Amino acid sequence: VSRFEGITMAPPDPILGVSEAFRADTNDLKLNLGVGAYRTEELQPYVLNVVKKAENLMLERGENKEYLPIEGLAAFNNVTAQLLFGADNPVIQQGKVATVQGLSGTGSLRLAAALIERYFPGAKVLISSPTWGNHKNIFNDARVPWSEYRYYDPKTVGLDFNGMIDDIKAAPEGSFILLHGCAHNPTGIDPTLEQWEKIADVIQEKNHIPFFDVAYQGFASGSLDEDAASVRLFAARGMELLVAQSYSKNLGLYAERIGAINVVCSSSDAAARVKSQLKRIARPMYSNPPVHGARIVANIVGDPALFKEWKDEMELMAGRIKGVRQKLFNSLSAKDKSGKDWSFILKQIGMFSFTGLNKSQSDNMTNKWHVYMTKDGRISLAGLSLAKCEYLADAIIDSYH
Ligand code: PMP
Repeated sequence: VSRFEGITMAPPDPILGVSEAFRADTNDLKLNLGVGAYRTEELQPYVLNVVKKAENLMLERGENKEYLPIEGLAAFNNVTAQLLFGADNPVIQQGKVATVQGLSGTGSLRLAAALIERYFPGAKVLISSPTWGNHKNIFNDARVPWSEYRYYDPKTVGLDFNGMIDDIKAAPEGSFILLHGCAHNPTGIDPTLEQWEKIADVIQEKNHIPFFDVAYQGFASGSLDEDAASVRLFAARGMELLVAQSYSKNLGLYAERIGAINVVCSSSDAAARVKSQLKRIARPMYSNPPVHGARIVANIVGDPALFKEWKDEMELMAGRIKGVRQKLFNSLSAKDKSGKDWSFILKQIGMFSFTGLNKSQSDNMTNKWHVYMTKDGRISLAGLSLAKCEYLADAIIDSYH
């Protein structure tokens, strides 16, 4: 008898499990809209040309494979903070940002969660309802208590702004408020700049600490600066804040696990201390992060020609998704005779569309139509082609009614 008899089978992951089910489906019509990964119009994975160029450069230079320091590659940490805040931002100029390379967005969030657990015992993290499924896992595993604030309003298929403000106000003073910097996952609904100002007001009033998750910088609008506007607005108020970053989507570096955690402090002295403690958390977890993705980012962002190429390619990717979004809306509006207003699809931004399909309707999408998606009704438009929009519209209309 096994010593592991007491270990029960874990359920499949609600997002990555969708890809497993997709792979097992043998029907030719199958469509994987589960995981948020960019595909070409031919529905193939895409490696950015600028990434290939950076990798060729790295090969030519014959760079070594020595360990990185615990905090990661210095050149990466510099450019990642600059990309987020803008190179001339006073928080950078004055050395107030503690930046540590992390294992992409997830690993960076996990480092921050460990920091909160250790230095803010009992403090709660408020997360949006709904949110990316892994947020809850991350805080659970880090033993950080969390609760939800209202975000999505099913009646308007839009933002429940008053609910959000009320719940942030009602949270215990000094809570961490987790915010999606842009392209909210899964809803695709972002606050306007005026709304961000009001959110910042209540967070300041209640002495909360904003904690941004920025997994889609450049992917929402096509512009890196525009997508960082929320974070910069908070930083400009002189607030202390946390920001987790990921290069999975905007540089297509999913498997390289490259991202960072940034902690903006009110003094450079505090930033140095925070950084030292983040390193202390990272060391027993994984010692030091991988170098390859960090070099790619540092090479691209640090070189004006490559940086420009990246921005062009990102616009292209964001543009393809916008095109698919429009076509899906057109197909739904033309095919659906029920009079339903589908314009919410056009209002949403980023990789995803939140269709409003419930669990059993989402099951119908998969079981009858071979369309794989998460059970909360989210579809990844990055995994959709123009050619498949009509088919998807048929599936959605059939599942709705
Ligand atoms: N946060 C959000 C909101 C996300 O959607 C994702 C990616 N799905 C991540 C963080 C982190 O992803 P990764 O660990 O691949 O960077």
